[in-house]
Amino acid sequence: MAQLPLGSESRPLRVAVIGSGPSSFYAVQALFKTQNLHVRVDLFDRLPTPFGLVRGGVAPDHQKIKSVIRIYEELARDPRCRFFGNVALGRDVQVEDLVAHYDQIVYGVGNESDRKLGVPGEDLAGVHSATEFVGWYNGHPDFRDRRFDLAAAHTVAVVGNGNVAMDVTRILLKNPAALADTDIADYALAELQKSRVREVYLLGRRGPAQAAFSPKEMEEIAELPDVDVVISPEEAAIDPLSAQWAANEPRSTQRNIKLIAELAARGPGDKPKKVRCRFLVAPVELLGEGGRVRAVRVEHGELVPDAQGVPRPKGTGRFSEIPAQLVLKAVGYRGVPIRGVPFDERSGTIPNAAGRVLDRPGGAVVANQYVVGWAKRGPTGLIGTNSPDSVETVQAMVADLTGRTAPALPADERDAMPRLLRERGVEFVTWEDWQALDSYEQELGKARGKVRCKVCDVAEMLRVIKSRQAKAEERA
Ligand code: NAP
Repeated sequence: MAQLPLGSESRPLRVAVIGSGPSSFYAVQALFKTQNLHVRVDLFDRLPTPFGLVRGGVAPDHQKIKSVIRIYEELARDPRCRFFGNVALGRDVQVEDLVAHYDQIVYGVGNESDRKLGVPGEDLAGVHSATEFVGWYNGHPDFRDRRFDLAAAHTVAVVGNGNVAMDVTRILLKNPAALADTDIADYALAELQKSRVREVYLLGRRGPAQAAFSPKEMEEIAELPDVDVVISPEEAAIDPLSAQWAANEPRSTQRNIKLIAELAARGPGDKPKKVRCRFLVAPVELLGEGGRVRAVRVEHGELVPDAQGVPRPKGTGRFSEIPAQLVLKAVGYRGVPIRGVPFDERSGTIPNAAGRVLDRPGGAVVANQYVVGWAKRGPTGLIGTNSPDSVETVQAMVADLTGRTAPALPADERDAMPRLLRERGVEFVTWEDWQALDSYEQELGKARGKVRCKVCDVAEMLRVIKSRQAKAEERA
């Protein structure tokens, strides 16, 4: 059979992108922008809904951040792009299916789990990962059944002080009335309205100079009308080692140091709710009573230089207890292995070299398989960080096409994947289906004075889509 240049008009490149979060959409964008590349993209998501963490992770009171989906919607509407929602790799389709149907595969599967603390007591009732709490208030189908008894908690300990810790702290302490018009899940709003949480401890294992939050996120908490951010002047003080180290760090480190000093200088304040920022405290055990968490036992640390002179925390052998009826571990996300896809247990990512998948860390390139986003580099960076990261992967994909040829595609090639899914009884969701669900959620939201009312259950999503289709057919 005649061979045609792969990626040419006569033989377009067929790409499967797994996951429909920001990194996947930036990969699609980079592919579409590549000069002289003729490409067709099929975008798969295990949920019927697109946008990954923009829908399931970004806090409901950060609607501006979510407006980035306008760019993704435009890409999804492009005739070169198709959406297959409710299709999970490893469950409904296998890597072998993708290899048989596509020229290249891009994994944009994110990090679906969380890092463990690895201390005794992690299984006590009342101990959760922030991933669960975030998924719960955002109506993510995986987490909608979780229970957070906020009416029974006065003090919450959040382990870690990154931006996820900021999000959960803000949601816990913000007046629920200020969340009522957002897209927060209805059940979560109802629970927050019953909440008795008045105090959140933010536990940082390093010092104030190494706080992981962005200054803007902490400022937002400090500006909440009924919340004081309380930091002891002793813990806010910057040690000489950190002062020296911080001089070469990004500007946000200097801003954090300044902000923490300002907040410490304000004193404890007289507002009814408190965020107590603690530094140099590492949880060593979660203490329980009757199977429920009652406190976090922490070891106090000090900073010592590592071989590169970077300040690292070292236990001092001094311990204390921080009371908490609820503990949220915000110590980072972690990827989960997918059948047939290489996985690096140590980092929780897909081993790769600049986006080319490797069969093991430092191993051989797996031909035609690529990775983007958190699955590629781990759980770091903001939404926008994913754009240049995906461009890097797409550059590798395009470079790998040099000189490649392939036989012409059969006329009904576009039908092959939908046919396969139908044969397997997979109820896949198209972009039009998602749009039907999207407009349902927005209309319901409008009627209730909210941005949207999320449908949080997959079976219910499919029912809504079917009933909308039936109504549209009746009208036609
Ligand atoms: P992160 O920024 O890496 O923060 C993780 C925190 O957990 C750090 O304080 C870390 O301390 C601590 N930690 C890790 N292991 C620990 C352990 N064993 N014991 C105690 N503490 C531990 O991660 P994240 O908050 O999950 O956020 C992930 C990414 O999403 C970040 O890039 C973040 O900026 C981004 N994000 C942004 C927003 C926003 O812009 N609004 C919202 C959410 C998330 P060390 O620093 O000492 O390692």
